[in-house]
Amino acid sequence: MGRVTESSEAHESSEAHAGQQPSGAQARPAESLADSGLVGDADDMQRLWTPHRMVYVADTHQPDQHDCPFCHAVTQDDEQVLIVHRGVYGYVLLNLYPYNNGHLLVCPYRHIATYDEASPEEVAEIGAMTQTAMRVLKETMNCHGFNIGMNQGEAAGAGIAAHLHQHIVPRWRADSNFFPIIAKTKSLPLLLGDVRDKVAAAWPDP
Ligand SMILES: [Zn+2]
Repeated sequence: MGRVTESSEAHESSEAHAGQQPSGAQARPAESLADSGLVGDADDMQRLWTPHRMVYVADTHQPDQHDCPFCHAVTQDDEQVLIVHRGVYGYVLLNLYPYNNGHLLVCPYRHIATYDEASPEEVAEIGAMTQTAMRVLKETMNCHGFNIGMNQGEAAGAGIAAHLHQHIVPRWRADSNFFPIIAKTKSLPLLLGDVRDKVAAAWPDP
């Protein structure tokens, strides 16, 4: 009986630390949040709320327009910087560090950091170029699926957080193997220049 009580207390103590908002006037237990109608997918993860760590999330260098690789690329030859298409408001290029063959990036020409800064015209063209990129990759590389997304800010994993870019990663069934895990190595059967030429050639004229 004593053991059951101990176990129960330990469980409650753990929940109190990991499952609640930080202490303070606005702290509310997770249970009341769950019933509050707020949006989110419940999962098995516990949350450790650590607002004090915000002090570390600031002041890391990001390029401005003068040393930004995405701003620089548009001034160079397409073949040299792996651009596959230039639109009116933005352009498409191959990722120099691809997750998979055919890993494309769609960027606005403007040096803006996050999606909410994009104009309606830029949003529309980024969307249209993303669709076209998918069609071209399906046609040229026979991929089975895609991962598409934008990492917004360094904290979210963006390498060049200062210039908005959307990743389009083609996927094939069973395309992941153990190389990245045991040897930090990716197996990429096609060379970047060859992929650029294939995708650029297949990109439809406006
Ligand atoms: Zn830029």
